[in-house]
Amino acid sequence: MTDTPTLDLNAVAPAVDSLDTIVSLSKRRGFIFPSSEIYGGINAVWDYGPLGVELKNNVKRAWWRAMVQERTDIVGLDAGILMHPQVWVTSGHVGSFSDPLVECATCHRRYRLDELSGAEDLSATDLRDPGIVERLGLVCPNDGGPLSPPRRFNLMFTSHMGPVEDDGSVVYFRPETAQGSYVNFKNVQQSSRKKVPFGIAQIGKSFRNEISPGNFVFRMREFEQMEMQYFVRPGEAAAVAFEDWLPARKAWYERYGVAPDRLRFREHASDELAHYARKAIDIEYRFPFGWKELEGIHNRGDFDLGSHAKASGENLEYFDPTTDEHFIPWVVETAAGADRAAFTFLIDAYREEEVRGEKRVVLALNPELAPYKVAVLPLLKKRAEIVALCHRLRDDLARDVMAVYDDTAAIGKLYRRQDEIGTPWCVTVDVDSLEDGAVTVRDRDTMTQERVPVEGVKRLVLDRLSTARG
Ligand code: ATP
Repeated sequence: MTDTPTLDLNAVAPAVDSLDTIVSLSKRRGFIFPSSEIYGGINAVWDYGPLGVELKNNVKRAWWRAMVQERTDIVGLDAGILMHPQVWVTSGHVGSFSDPLVECATCHRRYRLDELSGAEDLSATDLRDPGIVERLGLVCPNDGGPLSPPRRFNLMFTSHMGPVEDDGSVVYFRPETAQGSYVNFKNVQQSSRKKVPFGIAQIGKSFRNEISPGNFVFRMREFEQMEMQYFVRPGEAAAVAFEDWLPARKAWYERYGVAPDRLRFREHASDELAHYARKAIDIEYRFPFGWKELEGIHNRGDFDLGSHAKASGENLEYFDPTTDEHFIPWVVETAAGADRAAFTFLIDAYREEEVRGEKRVVLALNPELAPYKVAVLPLLKKRAEIVALCHRLRDDLARDVMAVYDDTAAIGKLYRRQDEIGTPWCVTVDVDSLEDGAVTVRDRDTMTQERVPVEGVKRLVLDRLSTARG
């Protein structure tokens, strides 16, 4: 544990005061839409629009870069969403992947107990106490009706595999990607010939039938995770790896622009720990609705490989030739959400400034995360040669980066539009460009402009992107 949690919620201000600012920007500019909106929407599922899909892909790529590409000790995997149902029995999810649910006797609305006002800070023991609702005098926030004692509600979605819908055909939609890495431990270790310590990284969809989803894409029922399972020697080595991953993962958010003072660590109390965990620390972010988990780092001991070895009968021991030992590796997990990370980068990048008496909205996204890297804009769209040069330049840039052409407004307005979606560089082609072969490159953050030979634009963009990557 490295940081002391900030007790006063207001001691650190959020990057934006109201979530509505981000929700409306997302809808207006095409980052995120409610799913199935023309039918009234479906609760807790969101669709990524043209800019949102770029942002989220860039977040996933940045994670993969840091967790797989730049490392020699971590390899990737893409396991199926549906797995053998026994996996979820062995992992403990069938038995205990649940949240405390309370129901109103009059309006029948259901709530997750620890999200009701007055119950947010209850310990895990209190959340299981049948008398807790009465003891705290909690009532339904909707109509003031009496609430039931808490009961455990399993969060896994189920379906049936094959043409027969009976108990024997039940399958679960995975609620985490981690199990795919455990059941493939041997396949991956033997095919990649990695030696402990080594990791398996995965990005993919997970599903949880959350009782009270909300806060936009913060808590969804269908979402994407970016999880890495690090296999280490038992005991002390796992404790050391756990401590090493904490700053490394926090630094990843900072590398891509999140303000360090809006990140903190929070350790799980012993009665809050999941059944598999020996130690768990969350990286939390100061969202507009409070400090909330962004990513969890867990020391899972030998629970995963040990349980799967026992239940499947497969020997999942690792043989260490240097010490001539056989052992079940322990797991240190870093579990992040792709949606929650993209949401965080979006919130943290949002700025409103006053420029020459006018409001300027800027998404100061790290260029690596920005949906478009460069916009090519004509100063005079009536001049065919200017427009033609713009298209040639955009097409050439688009071989390497996301580049967009826009001529639907005057230049000042075009700049503002690109600022609002985070495009780091705008290139303007004017009448002089036709004579001197140079164009103007404008920087999103400083708004400074420089004249650059047209054939030097791509190099400039690629160099600056590389610098931004860190
Ligand atoms: P919580 O306590 O908020 O329900 P958790 O502790 O169950 O979350 P983990 O199982 O550790 O979460 O999941 C790892 C990461 O996956 C989370 O830190 C988060 O970024 C992401 N995640 C989990 N559940 C959701 C969800 N319903 N919607 C979006 N992202 C999620």
